[in-house]
Parts: sequence; structure tokens; C-alpha cells
Amino acid sequence: MTEPRNVLNMCVLCPGICVTECPVYMATHIRASAPNNLARIALKFMEGSKDMEDALWLCTGCRSCEYACPMGNKVWEAVRVLRGQEYISSTEARVERLTNNSKPGLLVVSPSKPNVNIVKTLGGDYSLYWVDSGVISETYWSGRNPILNLNGIEFILADDMDALTPLSLSEKRLVSPLKILKSLGAKRLLGDNGYTLHIPCKTPREYRDDIIGGISQVLGSPESIVEGCVAGGGGLPVKHPDLAREIAMYTMRNTNPGRPVVTLCSNAKMLLRKLGYQSLTLLDLIEEAAQR
Ligand code: SF4
Ligand code: SF4
Repeated sequence: MTEPRNVLNMCVLCPGICVTECPVYMATHIRASAPNNLARIALKFMEGSKDMEDALWLCTGCRSCEYACPMGNKVWEAVRVLRGQEYISSTEARVERLTNNSKPGLLVVSPSKPNVNIVKTLGGDYSLYWVDSGVISETYWSGRNPILNLNGIEFILADDMDALTPLSLSEKRLVSPLKILKSLGAKRLLGDNGYTLHIPCKTPREYRDDIIGGISQVLGSPESIVEGCVAGGGGLPVKHPDLAREIAMYTMRNTNPGRPVVTLCSNAKMLLRKLGYQSLTLLDLIEEAAQR
């Protein structure tokens, strides 16, 4: 876990190399949202000032500033600790419950509702366990990997970037949604106009090209690629729904809205749907293909 004071103290001396990478700042031009200003506010907050506490919620946790920062400062993680988000501990409690089950199970990592078509598609007789993908990625980014401790879970199916990143590579039980989609011929679901691929902000950059290549092999090449933060995370959509919409529009500004958006982020999917985009994750595509 990041020690906030160490991160923030290292950050405040810098002019803000990261500022133009921050989607919240770039979309809204709210000064307090720029990572370096956020670091200053966070330090003041630690010193007892509550004046700008609300500003601490102006971060989606997209990590763009971390990638840009020569020090690799995790301002986002320091800020999240200061928010008092109990995310990690509640995550562990939820995952802990799963470790105690003894029936053969399929763990589906997705915020969508459980759907028996997934089990039918895999051809097994499994108990279905459902975990929010944010839960898994948050624990993953924090250097913990509860999935590895799950007993009784035979397969894991994840519907966003977790399925395609080191988390899956380290977990042999993980079922590739791309293999399922290929066998279902899911390409036909995307229509004649093709699709736009959304690569979410937290995708590790070293996996970007492999992910695009893998998806292109199964769904065909995307007509366009949108990368970055759609503002579906970090508590921002709950605290500042108008800003979340603004940031989503900013990220999607050059996208033809007539095409479906295939996204590797379930939070992005939900926000994009609210904005009127046809938006699908890989699991959505599996469900649709299985129903046809
Ligand atoms: S996060 Fe890094 S790049 Fe951004 S202001 Fe702080 S030290 Fe500078
Ligand atoms: S994590 Fe993203 S939203 Fe938060 S300060 Fe950094 S660049 Fe901005």
C-alpha cells in the first residue's frame, strides 16, 4: 500500500509534467483536479485542512499521471487512501467467502448479473460465483492476488482487461473469453459498420499491442481505437456524475457513435450506455452469441 505522505512530498516540488495526461483536468480544466494540485490538496488534508476535501474525489484512478511521472508517483493511490475508501478490506472479505466453498465452481469476474448462458456455453455443471471486476483489479493493483487462493473454483472467466493482462497469465484456470468468442463466431454480432475498441486507462502499456492483436484476430480489426479514461471508476461517477459524463465525452470525442464500442472495462460500458453508445464487454458478446 502506498504511504501517502511519501508520495505527496515527492510530488509537490515538481511543476507537473503529468498534468496534460490527466483526463479529468483535460476534460474539465478544474485546477484542483490536476495531479500536482491534487497532491498539494491531499497534503493539506493530511495536515488537518478539510476545506477542499471534495477535491479528493476528482480522480478516477486512471494511473495516467503515474505513467507520465518520472518518479512513478502514485498520486491516485495516495489520494484513495486519504479518501478512506474501504474498498480493499471489503474486497478481501468478499473474496475470502469464496475461498471456503467446496463445490466445483465457475468464478465470473464481472459486475453484470449472473447469466446461465455462460455456463451453458462452457458446457459444465458449475456453481456460479460472481465477483465485481473492480474488486479483482483493485486487489491486483495493490499487489495482492486473492484469485490464486480460491479453492473449489475450477474456472475463472473475466470480462474486461483482467482477462487479458498479467492476472490471467498468472492463473492457469482462467478461461480466455477470446477463445469462447472465436468458437461462437461472435464477429457477426458487430454488424457492417465494425466496432470501436476501447482500451481502458489502467491497461498495462506493455500488453496493449498484444491485447489489440488478440481481439482483432477474433472480432476483426476495429474501425477505431479509443484509449484512456472514460471516468467510470474511482468513485468519481458517484460523487460527480456530471463530470464523469464530461470526461467520457472528452475521451470519445472522435468516435463515430453509430458503431458499437467494445470495451474492456465494465464501468466504462455502463457510463457509455448512459450516454447512448451501444457498448459491450467481451462477456456481453459471449452472452449474446450464446443466445442466438
Ligand atoms: S505526479 Fe509526478 S509528474 Fe506529476 S506533479 Fe507529481 S512528481 Fe510531477
Ligand atoms: S490517476 Fe488519472 S484522474 Fe487521477 S490524478 Fe492521475 S491522471 Fe488524473
